[in-house]
Amino acid sequence: MLTIHSFCFNAFQENTYIIFNEQKEAIIVDPGCYAPNEQATLANYISENKITPTLLLNTHCHLDHVFGNSFVNEKYGLTAHFHKNEQPVIDRLPEGGARWGVPCEPYKGAVKYILQDEIIKFGTDEFKVLFTPGHSPGSLCFYHAKQDFLIGGDLIFKDGVGRTDLPGCNPMDLMNSIKTQILPLPDTMTIYSGHGPLTTWGREKKANPYVLHILNES
Ligand SMILES: [Zn+2]
Ligand SMILES: [Zn+2]
Repeated sequence: MLTIHSFCFNAFQENTYIIFNEQKEAIIVDPGCYAPNEQATLANYISENKITPTLLLNTHCHLDHVFGNSFVNEKYGLTAHFHKNEQPVIDRLPEGGARWGVPCEPYKGAVKYILQDEIIKFGTDEFKVLFTPGHSPGSLCFYHAKQDFLIGGDLIFKDGVGRTDLPGCNPMDLMNSIKTQILPLPDTMTIYSGHGPLTTWGREKKANPYVLHILNES
């Protein structure tokens, strides 16, 4: 049984998730900790709960989702896992930070690229990798079928979808990603988004105007 704990970090109010199993091994998803007190919040949670982080996953590499990558890489010796299309995005981190007024150093730690439909094994648990570009060229979602939940990044939010007006975004791709990758998944699935509260796919199919638009089209 996996436990999911969320933190809301940085000026963009990004959700960072720690997912841990009964052996207290943990995946850190999108560490957005920016300020030293946010890094301490993450590290204290890990030490107080006697958790061992073993995997670092990035749904995509917009700055608010990778502020803490270097911290996690250095403190826990973890390799960042993301889609190869996100390499140019993470390479622009110092540039983007300067533009938004949040200076950051480049991420220089280890990287491993993950692929569409890859199965990520984590102890006895498995996550299926869904390639869901649109908000970012290499956006991924991670689906855990056994517990029926999705780590959705900035693809879908409660009542919304990820913005597609930034460089590297493509609104057609985003709609297509939802249609091909998310639509086949169960209504009961819980969605843990990159921003805002958790929701379920069934709830979004009833109330999310973007999802309703897709349903009306198909
Ligand atoms: Zn984003
Ligand atoms: Zn975001």
